[in-house]
Amino acid sequence: MIHENDSDDSFHALESANFEEVEKENAGIAEYVPDASAIAEPVIRPTVDRPRIERAVREILAAVGEDPDREGLLETPKRVAKMYEELLHGLQEDPRIHLRKFFTEQYDEIVLVRDISFSSMCEHHLLPFFGKAHVAYLPKGRIIGLSKLARLVDSVARRPQVQERMTEQIANLLIQELDVLGVAVIIEAEHTCMTIRGIRRPGSRCVTSAVKGRFRSDARSRAEVMALIYSGQTPVK
Ligand SMILES: [Zn+2]
Repeated sequence: MIHENDSDDSFHALESANFEEVEKENAGIAEYVPDASAIAEPVIRPTVDRPRIERAVREILAAVGEDPDREGLLETPKRVAKMYEELLHGLQEDPRIHLRKFFTEQYDEIVLVRDISFSSMCEHHLLPFFGKAHVAYLPKGRIIGLSKLARLVDSVARRPQVQERMTEQIANLLIQELDVLGVAVIIEAEHTCMTIRGIRRPGSRCVTSAVKGRFRSDARSRAEVMALIYSGQTPVK
């Protein structure tokens, strides 16, 4: 079963970035180390302290030499605080809730939701990265509503993130909560911290994958799921 989310968007041409340059650029950033326990028990934060964000934004404006009291900037700290609350709302929920309502079904073929659009926040720069997630699983007697996969992606994305961890978390949550035979998560994203600052490479995409269970151990299953994920894409120009 293939479900296309918003297929009209053209997300073709997976131009790979110049990774050597990216590596140099990110040399000062600590490498991502997967933390299995953090993934198993997502931490739920208390509500966002908006006044605190407002004070911080005023500080930033003053620090860059702006006048936080000029007319155009007066409401900015409030708006930014509200925006952060919205962009990081995943911190206030446990992504597992989206996987708790499942149906018992003797369907043992691949379930794939392709092109789930998402936006997240790079935790190194607090700049957005956004793109598409493709989430596939091989059921073991349980299936979930298709929209739940999109909600899972959203919940994991809307927090300070790195794409590698996000990919891994979605895959691990599916394995833990749904007890599946295999899972494949592919994420393609544009990172504004790379396209508008630093090495400035507009249009470059970062692709990450987490392939587990039968999709990893069985070459045929893996080939099948990859073919399904990429069959609907515009060929690379
Ligand atoms: Zn970044």
